[in-house]
Parts: sequence; structure tokens; C-alpha cells
Amino acid sequence: VSRFEGVTMAPPDPILGVSEAFKADTHEMKLNLGVGAYRTEELQPYVLKVVKKAENLMLERGENKEYLPIEGLAAFNKVTAELLFGTDNPVIQKQRVATVQGLSGTGSLRLAAALIERYFPGAKVLISSPTWGNHKNIFNDARVPWSEYRYYDPKTVGLDFEGMIADIKAAPEGSFVLLHGCAHNPTGIDPTPEQWKQIADVIQEKNHIPFFDVAYQGFASGSLDEDAASVRLFAARGIELLVAQSYSKNLGLYSERIGAMNIVCSSADAAARVKSQLKRIARPMYSNPPIHGARIVANVVGDPGLFSEWKAEMEMMAGRIKNVRQKLFDSLSAKDKSGKDWSFILKQIGMFSFTGLNKAQSDNMTNKWHVYMTKDGRISLAGLSLAKCEYLADAIFDSYH
Ligand code: PLP
Repeated sequence: VSRFEGVTMAPPDPILGVSEAFKADTHEMKLNLGVGAYRTEELQPYVLKVVKKAENLMLERGENKEYLPIEGLAAFNKVTAELLFGTDNPVIQKQRVATVQGLSGTGSLRLAAALIERYFPGAKVLISSPTWGNHKNIFNDARVPWSEYRYYDPKTVGLDFEGMIADIKAAPEGSFVLLHGCAHNPTGIDPTPEQWKQIADVIQEKNHIPFFDVAYQGFASGSLDEDAASVRLFAARGIELLVAQSYSKNLGLYSERIGAMNIVCSSADAAARVKSQLKRIARPMYSNPPIHGARIVANVVGDPGLFSEWKAEMEMMAGRIKNVRQKLFDSLSAKDKSGKDWSFILKQIGMFSFTGLNKAQSDNMTNKWHVYMTKDGRISLAGLSLAKCEYLADAIFDSYH
């Protein structure tokens, strides 16, 4: 008998478990719209050309594989903060940002969660309802209490802005407010620039601390600056804030686990102390981060030629997603004579579309149509081709009615 008899079977992950089920399906029309990973029009994984170029440079230089410092690669930390805030941002110039390289977005969020648990005992993190499935896991694991603020309005398939503001207002003073910097996951619904200002107003009024999760900079609109506008608006007001960054999507570095945690403090002195504590948290967890992805980012962002090539490839990826979004909308509108308004699909941005399909309808998508998606009704448009829009529209239409 095993000493591990008491260990029960864990449930499959709601997002990564979808890919496992997809692999096991042998139907020829099967579609994996679960995980948020970019595919080409042929539905193949895509390695960016600039990434290959940067890797070739790295090979030519014959760089070594010595340990990085706990906080990561200095050249990476510099460019990642500059990319986020803009080079001439006073928070950068005055060295008010504590930046440490993290294990992509997830690892960076987890580091900050540990810092919150240590230095803000009892403080709550407010997260949007709904949100990316892993947020709750991360704060639960770090033993940080969280509660939800209203975000999605099923009636309009849009933003419940009044509910959002009311809930942020009602939260205990000094709470952390988790915000998706752009391309909200899973809904694809972002506040307007005017709404962002009002969100900043209540957050300041209540002395809350904004905590941005930026997993799609440049990937949502195709513009790095536009997608960072929300974060920069808050930084310009002199608010202290946290930002987790990920290069999984915008540079396609999913499995390299490259990202960063940036904490903007009101003084360089506070930033230095915060950074020292982030390092202290990282050391017993994973000691120091991996170098390969950090060097790719440093090379791409640090070289003007590669940087502009990257921007062009990002626009290409964002453009392909916009094209399938339009085609899906066209196909659904043509099929559905009931007068149902499908325009919400066009209003959403980023990789995902929140279809409004409930769990039973999502099950029908998978069981009858072999379309794999998360049970909250989210589909990843990055896994869809123009050629398969019609088939997907049939599946959605059938599941709805
Ligand atoms: N945050 C959000 C909102 C995401 O959608 C994702 C990825 O899907 C992540 C963070 C983190 O991903 P990674 O850990 O691969 O950077």
C-alpha cells in the first residue's frame, strides 16, 4: 500500500485540461479554442521571425549559461520597464520602479502576491468577475484574501461600469485592485479611456493600490503604446502601483517563461527596499530565473532594427485575429435570422471572444461539434482560421438555439 494513499486525484485545470481533451479527439473538424496561444491561418504554432534572429545572434556570440542574479538579467529588466512605462517616464527617470524578472506573467503575479501577504496582512485583492482562471489560484496559494468586483454584464455582453465603480468604492480602504491593462481575459471588454480616468479617480479616493496584469501589450491593438495607456495614466498621477508583464503572447515566448514584476513606488528609496524583498521571496522559491527568454527580449527591444520588425509581426498577428473576428461576426449575422445582435463580437478586443454561451451550450460545442473551449463561453480567436469561421458559426448557432 502506498504512503500516498491520502493523496486524492486533482481535477484537470480548466484551461490547460481543454488542450489535453483536444489531443485525445480524432474528429477531422476538431478545433482547439481553449488555450490562448497564437496560431497561423494553417492553425500551426508560430515562432516569430525576430525571435529566430535574436536566437541566431545569441548563438553567434556564444554567450554562457552562468546563473543570473536573483532579480534576473539587468538588460532585460531595463528594457521591460521602459517598454511598459515609456523611456522618458518620470517613474523610470527617478528610479522609482522596482523591476525583477519573473517566471512569465504567472510567476510575476505570484511574487507580488507573496509580497502582499507579507507586508499587507489582511489586505484584500479585488478581482474582476469574471477573470482569468489562474488569478484566484494564485492568491489562494499565496493566502491572500480576495473578493470580486462586478465587471461583465450578461445583458449587454458589455462592461458593467456602474457595478464596477460601486464595488471598488465599497471595498475597504487600501485594497489592491487587480486590473487587466488591456484585452481583458476572458471577456475581451476593456474600459474606454474616459472610464479608465474614473476608475483611477475612485482608486485614488479610496487609497487603493492598483495591480495591473499586462499579458497582451502590443497584442491587443497592435500598438505597444496604446495597450500600455491604462498603466501610464495611473503612473502619471503619481499613484504607487504594481504591474505584472508577460512575453508569452506578444513575443510568442510561451514556454520560455519570461515576464517581470514592476512595482512603482513614490521614492527611489522605497523602490530599492521593495526590490530587495522581492529578491528575498524569489530566492527560496526558484533561486534565479532562466536566461534564454530574457536575452531574446533584451535583444529584440534593445535593437532598433529588430524592434521595428517585432512591431510589424505583432501588427500582423493582431490583424489576423481581427480578420477572423470580423469573419465570425459576418457568418453568424448571415446565419441568424432571429434578429439577435452579434455586434458584441466586434466590440471585444484581443485574443478572445466571450460568446455568452453558458456551460451546457459550451458542452454542446465540444460534445457535438468538437470545438474545445473553456466552460465560461470563452473562445480563443487566435486558434481560429478564416477557413473554419463558417463551421464555428454553425456550431455556435446550433448551441445557442
Ligand atoms: N494574465 C492573464 C490575464 C493571462 O491571460 C495570462 C495568460 O493567458 C497570463 C496572465 C499569464 O500567462 P503567462 O504565465 O504565460 O505569462
